[in-house]
Amino acid sequence: MIIWDFNVIMALGVTMGLAVILIAWLYHSYNFKYTEALRDLEFFRQCTFCTYLYFDYNQKSPAHCPRCGSYQN
Ligand SMILES: [Zn+2]
Repeated sequence: MIIWDFNVIMALGVTMGLAVILIAWLYHSYNFKYTEALRDLEFFRQCTFCTYLYFDYNQKSPAHCPRCGSYQN
């Protein structure tokens, strides 16, 4: 027979909390769509002068670095 003292209740609470987090993590990992997450990679650019990383959604040539203002090809 289990003696219901404070330690047992705390251990059950922590275990249940971790189980909920684990189940939510597994559910999110299973339903995550990588194609949507990687969709923006085609707009991803890095400035060759200041190495600033940014997204260029306009895709105009030449691109314009938002940080240093230099033009990229
Ligand atoms: Zn730059």
